[in-house]
Amino acid sequence: MITLQSYLKGAFVAGDATGHATLVNPATEEPVAVTSTKGLDLPGALDYARTVGGPTLRAMTFAERGAVLEGMSKALHQVRDALIEASVINAGTTRSDSKFDIDGATGTLAYYAALGKKLGSAKFLVDGPGEQLTRSARFFGRHVKLPRRGVAVHINAFNFPAWGLAEKAAVAILAGVPVVSKPATSTALATFRLVERLHEAKVLPEGALQLVCGSAGNLLEHLGAQDVLAFTGGSNTARIMRSLDAAIARNVRVNIEADSLNSAVLGPDVEPGSELWQMFVRDVVRETTQKTGQKCTATRRIFAPRERLDELQEELTSRLGELKYGDPSNDEVRMGPLATAQQLADAREGVAALLASGARLVQGNAQDADPIGVPKGRGYFIQPLLLRADAPHEAHLVHEREVFAPCATLMGYASVDDATALVAKGEGTLVSSVYSDDRAALDALVLGIAPFTGRLLIGSTKVADQAISPGMVLPSCVHGGPGRAGGGEELGGERGLDFYSQRTALQGDRAVLDKLVPGAESAS
Ligand code: NAP
Repeated sequence: MITLQSYLKGAFVAGDATGHATLVNPATEEPVAVTSTKGLDLPGALDYARTVGGPTLRAMTFAERGAVLEGMSKALHQVRDALIEASVINAGTTRSDSKFDIDGATGTLAYYAALGKKLGSAKFLVDGPGEQLTRSARFFGRHVKLPRRGVAVHINAFNFPAWGLAEKAAVAILAGVPVVSKPATSTALATFRLVERLHEAKVLPEGALQLVCGSAGNLLEHLGAQDVLAFTGGSNTARIMRSLDAAIARNVRVNIEADSLNSAVLGPDVEPGSELWQMFVRDVVRETTQKTGQKCTATRRIFAPRERLDELQEELTSRLGELKYGDPSNDEVRMGPLATAQQLADAREGVAALLASGARLVQGNAQDADPIGVPKGRGYFIQPLLLRADAPHEAHLVHEREVFAPCATLMGYASVDDATALVAKGEGTLVSSVYSDDRAALDALVLGIAPFTGRLLIGSTKVADQAISPGMVLPSCVHGGPGRAGGGEELGGERGLDFYSQRTALQGDRAVLDKLVPGAESAS
């Protein structure tokens, strides 16, 4: 069995064995690795980032930081197969689902590498045009965005062991802020392998990236006023992050990506069997079952005109019923197990809660599974599940409780306004999608839903064969959402750098400012 190590102060170090947590293969329940952070100097890692990594990165231009990210992307791509293998055996993801995570990581690093090249020789950003502040043209104001002088601590969820680290680290490193990244313990094998590779490839500037492989220990107690904390995970843990002393007493900047009851809305004009109908069905099936539904952007609520509900149910149940699930290393299999025994228990409890709240099961059974290539009863398997709620305004929990599994609820709406009201009952999503060719319906749906979501995919016949699936997070568009989704925002190209930067208004002699802020003239 492998003992995972943390990567602190430029070296791999193992925690005390008395603190070992065991990582398992969720398809077989066999242990694959142990890890511990007990006894490790985590506050020392924060200091190392602040005193070594920060100055190193801030001395670099955006183009140079971009070159670091390019090196990281290439180094990881070279070991793609080994990372896929680690994901299959520890996260229970099929090869295709593992690629989604790993290619997402290298792609996001490459995107931010290209952005660094574009930002060029500057070391910080100038924000917007300058402002004349008094009657005199001489007294002037400019906004600048400088890298914060602290460390970025990243706490990630179990479902994206590679992309989770990369999507946050790419933005922080480009902004000039060093990173301490902590993956979820249960699926940390691929993250450990990834950092091992970056170390071996010698692509990391000293102190730019450290890894805490296991429990966070006392890491978060030592955050200071220039540090930032970016968290992805469940809403209960998010509450702990928000109430940290560092956040309350020292105003450490905190970004939260949490639960989300994402919606897909079939427009009133979409005919069964049409190209747009097929696009909707394809997206819903993929977004319910990819990564066994363990995606923060997975579709949880499906809305269709009431009169279309039975036909849609028939098509979805048939597609979900055919899906082959089982041993993720088997090529025939399209869906692996849930990641841990706890996730399976939570999913079953969640489904029971939705049923008690007024939904009924129309496809699958949460208590029983017959996976391909695995003895019955072994592994954390669950069937693809479709629920239906015929009184969607009354079935409160279908809008409130995220079942982190291949599980979604089908609901009918009476009018476009009713559809937007139902989407809004989720109190904030990471992503929602609407499908229609009717301009009036789209206007109402898009403008009604957009304030309740961080991203909105608009499906129409003209883009049916080109559009990406709504669950795919692109580095160029923001990821995050209001309310229940955490109220945070990541990525979005250059926008993502704001979290790691201090925006400061400089006021003074325009000639002095023009010298201090090279290139600012072009922003005015
Ligand atoms: P989780 O239990 O909240 O854990 C998330 C991370 O927080 C893990 O690294 C965990 O470490 C750490 N953690 C837990 N308690 C902590 C504490 N007291 N102090 C410091 N760190 C702590 O969530 P999960 O089970 O990994 O992920 C599932 C949830 O994440 C789902 O609800 C899903 O919606 C959400 N999610 C959201 C997004 C998004 O982008 N919005 C993306 C993915 C997942 P250990 O593993 O060591 O306990």
